[in-house]
Amino acid sequence: MSEDAVPVKEGLFDETGGGRLLAGKCKACGRIFFPKAPFCFECLEKDMEEVVLSRRGKLYSYSIGRMASTHFPPPYAVGLVDLPEGVRVFAPLMSTVDLTYRIGMEMEVYIDELWKDDGKRVMGYKFKPVKGGD
Ligand SMILES: [Zn+2]
Repeated sequence: MSEDAVPVKEGLFDETGGGRLLAGKCKACGRIFFPKAPFCFECLEKDMEEVVLSRRGKLYSYSIGRMASTHFPPPYAVGLVDLPEGVRVFAPLMSTVDLTYRIGMEMEVYIDELWKDDGKRVMGYKFKPVKGGD
């Protein structure tokens, strides 16, 4: 990440291979949580390990915002993406200007600027459609 960029939150993602989400896996029952959980919400185990999530998943649902929000100029899209690890991730989607979203389409995570704060680029994860995918 460049000098003028900061992650929106530490430990959520890294930039390897275009961006990867970092999750927590329960060492007892194997349930995976994103963002990481302090303990397993399934079996209450406290022993969790970090795992890397798949970069691709399927769009479960989405919404187009048509009113200005604090950080995102309209129109903007947010969505829920189901990853193969059994995790449903809420995230901004790539700008909707040239894109049409469809439930079930294949999506890929990437790292992008979310907004600027005090001259710093605040970086986070977003999803975009996989070209030629489905
Ligand atoms: Zn567990």
